[in-house]
Amino acid sequence: MPHRHAEEKFHLSEERSYVSTQYSLRPRREEIKAMDSKEENIVTTTRSASLKTSQAPATQTKDLEFGGVPGVLLIMLGLPACLCLLLLMCKQKEPSLLNFPPPLPAWQDLWETRVFGVYILWFLMQALFYLLPVGKVVEGMPLADGRRLKYRLNGFCALLLTSAVIGAAVFWGADLYYVYGHFLQFALAAAAFSLGLSVYLAVRAAGAPPCALAPSSSGNAIYDFFIGRELNPRIGTFDLKYFCELRPGLIGWVVVNLAMLLAEMRLQNRAAPSLAMTLVNSFQLLYVVDALWNEEALLTTMDITHDGFGFMLAFGDLVWVPFIYSFQAFYLVGHPNEVSWPMASLIIALKLCGYVIFRRANSQKNAFRKNPADPKLAHLKTIHTSTGKDLLVSGWWGFVRHPNYLGDLLMALAWSLPCGFGHALPYFYVAYFTVLLVHREARDERHCRRRYGLAWEQYCRRVPYRILPRVY
Ligand code: NDP
Repeated sequence: MPHRHAEEKFHLSEERSYVSTQYSLRPRREEIKAMDSKEENIVTTTRSASLKTSQAPATQTKDLEFGGVPGVLLIMLGLPACLCLLLLMCKQKEPSLLNFPPPLPAWQDLWETRVFGVYILWFLMQALFYLLPVGKVVEGMPLADGRRLKYRLNGFCALLLTSAVIGAAVFWGADLYYVYGHFLQFALAAAAFSLGLSVYLAVRAAGAPPCALAPSSSGNAIYDFFIGRELNPRIGTFDLKYFCELRPGLIGWVVVNLAMLLAEMRLQNRAAPSLAMTLVNSFQLLYVVDALWNEEALLTTMDITHDGFGFMLAFGDLVWVPFIYSFQAFYLVGHPNEVSWPMASLIIALKLCGYVIFRRANSQKNAFRKNPADPKLAHLKTIHTSTGKDLLVSGWWGFVRHPNYLGDLLMALAWSLPCGFGHALPYFYVAYFTVLLVHREARDERHCRRRYGLAWEQYCRRVPYRILPRVY
């Protein structure tokens, strides 16, 4: 087979020369000693690799993911429709297939300019917090041309400032019930904004140099509109993708959940929120706080290193996360469910179990990618790869090939269980998330196989299950 890219050719030829020494399953402690003597070699290898990639044109994947152009068109039309249907069904007293589809509101009830204005203000406030010169500045993963972009870590600080602003606003009379009362309009305002942002990103990416393009981009205008053509679109130092990943949508999710909690108390005449609502709010708050506290871990994820910034991430980050991930809280406002304490204890145990797997797996990989010689990881076994990066083959990453996805799925289940078993709607999130992560795992697997070749095959033989041991 002819090599498609200069980079690929380099990997394959390097692989052949590596084959005899590649698989080292000794603990890292012994490995590090051996590595010291090889260090000079590795440095030369990585240098020549980055030299080659900087000379090569930007990597463009020809085999399109997500079902190619028809697939992404379907997703781009289907997601907003699905969002509206879900939110409308959730507002019904008795949502069921018998009264499907839910009655569509009049056009003037779908759009409210004031709501759009509030959304823009929210976005600008988050942008302002992002620009504050507080927090550590770190470097991202090396780009194809060897450069490393700088990122400021102040997401957690933005959450604290947002809490102060929301607290002050409520104190001075702002009514968060407005968010519940205009939930669909807010979702549509965010959708319109994300569409506008995607158009802007597509237009500016048309003039982007080849070295700025995302590995996932294809050259096809429709596909690239979806997946994103530019890898790291920036206005000066303002990184649009990095900002949208963790700020307006993720922090917005917490505010939406809080609004739902207050709406539940008002509509159900409660002096305190229900146990179910408290569980959902606390679990999801923990998830967001964790993401912002460990903000640096975002820099090694697929979203940042592989996918461009286009409709997929703009809609996902700005619309899907705040308006669909808050679905359980939204559901509980109109469909109360009493959870007993024994049941709550089981759900909390499930959540904590998922969280421990998720956090430890992500932290282990992140620490390893940041510093493979970290003494705290010395007990772990690895496989060498021809790229100079090793793969963990014991610890969490020796349990299954995506332990972080397993933890995430367990947490997703724990978020839905407080809604009881009266309806399938609150379980939409678990079903959707399973499909997303299974598909994402397959995408990542393809990238890793292409990147690491034989070493990846060896890893798959050592760790045969992808997400759930003995099942998948
Ligand atoms: P990962 O963080 O799992 O990153 C995958 C990358 O990790 C691979 O491309 C590879 O990159 C590296 N890797 C894979 N196996 C190994 C190994 N054995 N040893 C060392 N490195 C390895 O993927 P995601 O970016 O998809 O997910 C990050 C987190 O975000 C996950 O916890 C996921 O659950 C969560 N997530 C949440 C979503 C949500 O909507 N709530 C959506 C998507 C993800 P390389 O070798 O190049 O470093």
